[in-house]
Amino acid sequence: MKSLRELTGIDDKFISIRCPVCARDIILDRCTYFNFKGPIKCSDLSHSHSLYVKIKDGRLSTPPQPIYFDDPDFKSPPIPVEILNDFKEAAICLGNNAPNACVVMCGRILERVTIDKNAKGNTLYDKIKNLYESGMISKTLYDAFTKVRVIRNVGAHYIPSVKIKDGEEKKIFDITKHIIEHVYILPLLTR
Ligand SMILES: [Zn+2]
Repeated sequence: MKSLRELTGIDDKFISIRCPVCARDIILDRCTYFNFKGPIKCSDLSHSHSLYVKIKDGRLSTPPQPIYFDDPDFKSPPIPVEILNDFKEAAICLGNNAPNACVVMCGRILERVTIDKNAKGNTLYDKIKNLYESGMISKTLYDAFTKVRVIRNVGAHYIPSVKIKDGEEKKIFDITKHIIEHVYILPLLTR
């Protein structure tokens, strides 16, 4: 069997990642993490954050992004405390490699947002459509809601041929964060 050095030209057996939150170095086995997209645990003892990393061909391809279990930018008010709690739970799912649970929590957040906005309809699909058709949300926001709803369904229901793609839960988590900011924070900033 060829050695890692012969295959890749990389000597070092380990990848060292400096945590941007607490400046600790996290050491990963380069073979195990040679191509990896997902969360890794920080060794920080407070357990307040994980890191989302993208490693391609044994090297970090983008700077590690922190996932805060208690996002310091998010406060109540203006964000309803139930949404903050659900967002925190989504972050814990994301940081612990639970993609299905993560997108389900994001869908739950949208359910709460649509109720806050007095959307009419029985299903989340109906409620999002109602918000858009009544001019309460823009096309961009409608598309964002729809993306989260569709992937939420993938996470919530077992269909053998349909699975959440690699790294998709991070995208849904980020979109959900933007939706929360758009609905609850942006109106205050532009008042
Ligand atoms: Zn850290």
